[in-house]
Amino acid sequence: MSELCIKVDQLRVIYNQGKSNEVRSLDGVSVEIYSQEYVIIYGPSGCGKSTLLYGISGLQAPTYGDVIVSGKNLAKMTKKEKVQFHQTNVGMVFQAFYLIETLTVLDNVCLPKVFRGESLVERREAAMKLLQRFSIAEQADRFPSQLSGGQKQRVSIARALVNNPEIILADEPVGNLDSESAQNVLDIFKEINEVDKKTLIMVTHNPEHLVYADRVVYMKDGKIIREDINRDKRPAEAAKKDFITAPEDISNELRLLMRTFKNLSLQQVGVLLIPFKAKQLMTHILSELTEDQTSAAENLLKEFLFNNIDEAGFKSRLDLDSEKGGAGWNKLRATSFVDRAQEIIKVADQINKNPEQALLEISDYLISEHHLKLDTEALLRFRAFIKMRLENKVDRFGLQQRLDFSIKLGGAGLYSGTAEKVVRELELMMLLNYSAQ
Ligand code: ADP
Ligand code: MG
Repeated sequence: MSELCIKVDQLRVIYNQGKSNEVRSLDGVSVEIYSQEYVIIYGPSGCGKSTLLYGISGLQAPTYGDVIVSGKNLAKMTKKEKVQFHQTNVGMVFQAFYLIETLTVLDNVCLPKVFRGESLVERREAAMKLLQRFSIAEQADRFPSQLSGGQKQRVSIARALVNNPEIILADEPVGNLDSESAQNVLDIFKEINEVDKKTLIMVTHNPEHLVYADRVVYMKDGKIIREDINRDKRPAEAAKKDFITAPEDISNELRLLMRTFKNLSLQQVGVLLIPFKAKQLMTHILSELTEDQTSAAENLLKEFLFNNIDEAGFKSRLDLDSEKGGAGWNKLRATSFVDRAQEIIKVADQINKNPEQALLEISDYLISEHHLKLDTEALLRFRAFIKMRLENKVDRFGLQQRLDFSIKLGGAGLYSGTAEKVVRELELMMLLNYSAQ
């Protein structure tokens, strides 16, 4: 079972405290990281990611709060202990590499070993092994200026690993690399976590990286605002401490339903889902009717989804007075409601029938329904992101993020509110389309 490796407790880092230019770089951050976890710290520039990483590494002293790494409180260490901690417990990788230009590649990698009293031969052997592993042994006698960015970063990873520390901290390690080198470095990190079993914390502002981590910690304005778990490697008690997010979203409720119904056949679940579908579709389309009018309509919607009444019957029953068994709406509203429901159901229906066609239709529908103005690039991304969601390669939050992010950051550039609405509607379609085949 994995153990608590890093505990950051109410960490505050305040620059220029009490002065007019005071900056709360970290404003009460608490996080616990367990051995062998791969955690990404994610957030916009200036939110405090680097400060948190440096706080964990001991390079940044807390203004308030505690950082405990491998059972040691960093603030209580003597200078000597801190130096030793730095050499043996953590390895760091930076965006700007920080290689020493006047030393060869091999000597750069050996550097953290110099103070440990090992012989030159021992040091070089360990370093060469890492250079070989990362396919840069041929560059051993070169100087950093003679290397590509990707090669430099592999040298600095080798340097971070040479003393075999338990923890690797990486601050935007692929921020300066072309996409191929970046991929290579991300693969190396994955391997360091999975094969070498290192606890890995990586800082990034690129949403495409998030899938690599076991856990993603989202930061904003010096605070942690959210955590996502891709794979929970923590012991059960730690996982339990997580706050449960409100079951506002369909997928959560749906997941709950699926769990509740786990002994039933798919066929049965499909039937049991109908009222739930009706309810979701209902609240989606309207919000301004009385409760009675709403619940009568919801019942009709159920009948409609069960195919017990047809479109015309649905419209006329909605319009009918409640005393006569109707929902007491007026004709105009009944017509527009049924048309809208029909439209969503029709588009959702496409999903299983013809995925390619569905992708185009759903995208076009969402674009026109939400009045999206997308240029060619944004349109391609929009469709690609919708496709990822339909194929369940991202969850609703992943989709929302991708839609929300600016074009420059690899997103589709929608306004946050719009991205949220688009996601909600797509989730609804996916729910409507869920059927027992
Ligand atoms: P990130 O890595 O997320 O981009 P940083 O942790 O580098 O953010 O910085 C967080 C905030 O702290 C920023 O507003 C930054 O300007 C400020 N900051 C960082 N270092 C210092 C410093 N030495 N003096 C004053 N402000 C600083
Ligand atoms: Mg930074």
